[in-house]
Amino acid sequence: MNKLDAERQKEIQQAEELLFTGPQALGFAKGLFQGHFVSDWVMPYPRIPEGQQGELDQTLTDLRNFLDADLDAAEIDRQADIPRSVIDGLGRVGVLGMTAPKEYGGHGFSQMANCKVLEEIGRRCASTSVFVNAHHSIGIRALLLFGTHEQKQKWLPKLVTGEQLGAFALTEKEAGSDAANVQMQARPSEDGSHFILNGEKRYITNAAIAHELTVMARTPVPGSDKTAVTAFLVTPDMPGFEMLEARMPKTGIKGTATGRFALRDVKVPKENVLGPLGKGLKVALTVLDFGRTTFGACCTGAAKTCLELAVAHANTRRQFNKTLGEFELVKKKIARIAADAYAMEAMTTVTAAFIDRGLEDYMLETAMLKVFTTERLWECINDVFQIYGGSAYFTDLPLERMLRDARINQIGEGANEVLTSFIALVGMRGPGMEFKEIYDTMMKPSRDGMSKAWAAGKNRLSATILVPDVPVQSEQLRAQARQLGRLIRNFNFAVNRALVTYREPILEMQLIQERIANAAMDLFASTCVLSRIDGEIQFAGRNGNTASPDHSAANLFLRQSFRRIRGFLAGLTDNDDKAVIAAAKSCLTSHTAA
Ligand SMILES: Cc1cc2nc3c(=O)[nH]c(=O)nc-3n(C[C@H](O)[C@H](O)[C@H](O)COP(=O)(O)OP(=O)(O)OC[C@H]3O[C@@H](n4cnc5c(N)ncnc54)[C@H](O)[C@@H]3O)c2cc1C
Repeated sequence: MNKLDAERQKEIQQAEELLFTGPQALGFAKGLFQGHFVSDWVMPYPRIPEGQQGELDQTLTDLRNFLDADLDAAEIDRQADIPRSVIDGLGRVGVLGMTAPKEYGGHGFSQMANCKVLEEIGRRCASTSVFVNAHHSIGIRALLLFGTHEQKQKWLPKLVTGEQLGAFALTEKEAGSDAANVQMQARPSEDGSHFILNGEKRYITNAAIAHELTVMARTPVPGSDKTAVTAFLVTPDMPGFEMLEARMPKTGIKGTATGRFALRDVKVPKENVLGPLGKGLKVALTVLDFGRTTFGACCTGAAKTCLELAVAHANTRRQFNKTLGEFELVKKKIARIAADAYAMEAMTTVTAAFIDRGLEDYMLETAMLKVFTTERLWECINDVFQIYGGSAYFTDLPLERMLRDARINQIGEGANEVLTSFIALVGMRGPGMEFKEIYDTMMKPSRDGMSKAWAAGKNRLSATILVPDVPVQSEQLRAQARQLGRLIRNFNFAVNRALVTYREPILEMQLIQERIANAAMDLFASTCVLSRIDGEIQFAGRNGNTASPDHSAANLFLRQSFRRIRGFLAGLTDNDDKAVIAAAKSCLTSHTAA
């Protein structure tokens, strides 16, 4: 293994160690990479408990009434501001503290219920949903997850009502995708009573309107010359807090206030440290897991709006003496949007349920959800834009705004390329380590090593041969379940082959990683869709509904997803990767020379 590969391996291992300390149950996505179908986590399809459904329904009714009366997404975009009356209204409905415990004034909702709320906002206004995400999904999340009782008592009551607002500040000039490269410094004072923070943050949503910011900065590691990231609660009234740019002009989600600020010798009391000292990256990554789940919910809402708009136009606009909906190339787009919207909702629900059920290891699934839903939404908006033709291009319709707004999704909270590589590498780590065991033993045989290698080899081999059982309850889904099982087996075989073929260099081979991650994402999406169809058929049956619900869009999703998976796996051996790399290298080097 060369130095670079060793460093990448270490980074991945550190990322996992950062997140999880104890032994955990095998997560669903990691199971896929080992050829297993960990059905308990995904089947039966999760439902909001009956006791909570009434409260959620009431909240959704209140929210819809409020949004219908008071939310004007076009005006928010034009004014590049979310009016205080909207923020107050969201606070009154409880949206700004939806998952906070009731003892601190929150609604105590589960993540699944919270996702339904965010979906409703995401249907109407991306600025507002990003604002809510920045405040609640990530802004006050560190406080909710890692705060002490005293910290929560002190800060939460005003934050959960929206009287005060929160923000999450990780990004800096040198720490964008490379989030661990935070440069902001936090030096402990000599008497140990506080930390002195220095540095700048940029691209921070809500920075200029927040009363509490979760700020990541480097603290010294005791007994060494190293530093590690720690999370702090910072307030803008602290002397030395300087707002450099309150609202950076931008392409979309214009209603949000995205800012830059500097901390110059800001004294932050030690009582404002969130979570353990030096564990700020764990705090940040855990917080982002929650953010990515509500990201999925907002994208689902926006995709449903795309479907409504597409259907409305396709049924009314006539050309060539036909409605647009009579043309197959328009039908194709509508069918795809419907299929994707169904899958996005299913994936969001299943992922949120992982959090609610206390599964510790869901970082792969939240990354998959974020990449999958943001990419699909981009396609949905592009399709509905096309269906509207020239009219989509004008600002009296919401489509150009939706297009501008959706573009941030593929960049924010982890650029999709970074997450794609992460999904493949973290997923492959399990089988990769088993292969390493086998390989190392073959090179240096020992009795103990041989038995471990034998176990690892048997494990790899059986996962490659056996088709995992996908236990659906509805008879009519058995064939699709078997297809999914076979695809998981084929995926596992392809992952093993890639690991054996490329060995350590695979850590740098992002074109291979992308196909593996894409196949894994579609396997997860198909699983969620199958589970949802199964749940809906069973539910209808239990309620005496003899007619099966219409699942034509969901079935289309499964067909298209299975086809994509086969394509991704075939691309592992039949591709243009060498030519792609050569062409890019030629451009990059000629540009450098110029
Ligand atoms: C409107 C908006 C709101 C934001 N809100 C917040 C916030 O509230 N809090 C916060 O902390 N941050 C926030 N951000 C920052 C956001 O999370 C970062 O922009 C994002 O993480 C990407 O970092 P970067 O912009 O520095 O891009 P870079 O790191 O420079 O990356 C640029 C591009 O390079 C590619 N790339 C980078 N690394 C790799 C890799 N390893 N492999 C392959 N390709 C790669 C990707 O295509 C990426 O899009 C916000 C950003 C925007 C635009």
